[in-house]
Amino acid sequence: MHHMTLAEIARGLADKKFSSEELTQVLLARIAQLDPQLNSFISLTPELALSQAKAADARRANGESGALLGAPIAHKDLFCTQGIRTSCGSKMLDNFKAPYDATVVAKLAAAGGVTLGKTNMDEFAMGSANESSYYGAVKNPWNLEHVPGGSSGGSAAAVAARLLPAATATDTGGSIRQPAAFTNLTGLKPTYGRVSRWGMIAYASSLDQGGPLARTAEDCALLLQGMAGFDPNDSTSIDEPVPDYSASLNGSLQGLRIGVPKEYFGAGLDPRIADLIHNSIKELEKLGAVVKEISLPNMQHAIPAYYVIAPAEASSNLSRFDGVRFGHRCENPENLIDLYKRSRGEGFGAEVQRRIMVGAYALSAGYYDAYYLKAQKIRRLVKNDFMAAFNEVDIILGPTTPNPAWKLGAKNSDPVAAYLEDVYTITANLAGLPGLSMPAGFVDGLPVGVQLLAPYFQEGRLLNVAHQYQQNTDWHTRTPTGF
Ligand code: GLN
Repeated sequence: MHHMTLAEIARGLADKKFSSEELTQVLLARIAQLDPQLNSFISLTPELALSQAKAADARRANGESGALLGAPIAHKDLFCTQGIRTSCGSKMLDNFKAPYDATVVAKLAAAGGVTLGKTNMDEFAMGSANESSYYGAVKNPWNLEHVPGGSSGGSAAAVAARLLPAATATDTGGSIRQPAAFTNLTGLKPTYGRVSRWGMIAYASSLDQGGPLARTAEDCALLLQGMAGFDPNDSTSIDEPVPDYSASLNGSLQGLRIGVPKEYFGAGLDPRIADLIHNSIKELEKLGAVVKEISLPNMQHAIPAYYVIAPAEASSNLSRFDGVRFGHRCENPENLIDLYKRSRGEGFGAEVQRRIMVGAYALSAGYYDAYYLKAQKIRRLVKNDFMAAFNEVDIILGPTTPNPAWKLGAKNSDPVAAYLEDVYTITANLAGLPGLSMPAGFVDGLPVGVQLLAPYFQEGRLLNVAHQYQQNTDWHTRTPTGF
């Protein structure tokens, strides 16, 4: 039962082959048995899950239908869930029970989603390895000695290990696409503003975007359908109609213009990944796509710009966690300054503290123009590169990551080495564009992802290309041994 995709579950429930309650019991037992190896959950919510499953079964018995009605899912632990711990992977929020549901959580619950729990993540979504969580590192089910990617590593490991069919995640600089690549999943970062950020604990507000992690493009379409849409509570949410994503999956790729940036294949890319990306291009050519070399000349400036803008926004967003308004409070403070210092010093881990310091420095008087303002100018240049490219091509294709998943601990002493691994993903966040990663093969038994980028609001096009690719390849069906 645990091998079923969301689409297969929806058919099985509609055909009364099993109930949501039965499926939920099976998955909860599987999580109890297997998750100790992976550490992919921070909190489990079996009582909530079983009551939602029973309610979904009752709604179906009353004639209701819907692809997500009775579908088991989990939420990255930065989506607020009413009455349930929402930790953001941090000691700072270890005892925080959100007083309300995030819009994404509420929408998926209304559609009949069954919440099995809250998934592990890098602290405050900062990281690419899921090693900075207060709740411990997450392991990659493809090789337990390797990282699953981050920051949505818990959602990715759980879905890849068939503990559940799909989960929510967020992507500020690649945290949906990179863990998807590292664990052989399909993950979609929507256009900035497509999915409400209300109730999603902020890391870098101008870059953060929620989206689905699943095994197939077809399932990403189903989950995105439940997540997307205008939300008056989020002032950056965009009031555009949500198309029927499943309806776009079967479009022909005849004549689709694929742009392949020459900058993507420079030094730093594992040549074995380059080969797999070229194979995926050939596969899409067989389906009628035409390939064109393009250029994104400002790509080389994207990492430094991102690692100024994201920490700058984080330093501002995280100022509310001071032991007074929100978050962990130290014991017996001597005075207010002592309370702030020790509460924040105890509550935040090393990576979060590093970013707060970098961000506060970049925003400080005297350095603002040299760092933050300059980074914003680069951000515009990165966007302009994409706008020029999309005048010539329909999608942009390349590797999701320069290397496969590294060993746990391998980059702990060198944070910049980890930042460099984000080279292919962060440009989409800087520009606000939608991006998808899908399985493209293996290197040394570890999964490799191919990334597709599209113009604003063309999530349907990304899902269409990925679905057609998945109809003609079987990488996405491979299962990690032992799961
Ligand atoms: N690795 C990037 C960072 O650490 C992206 C994280 C994310 O997308 N949340 O900032």
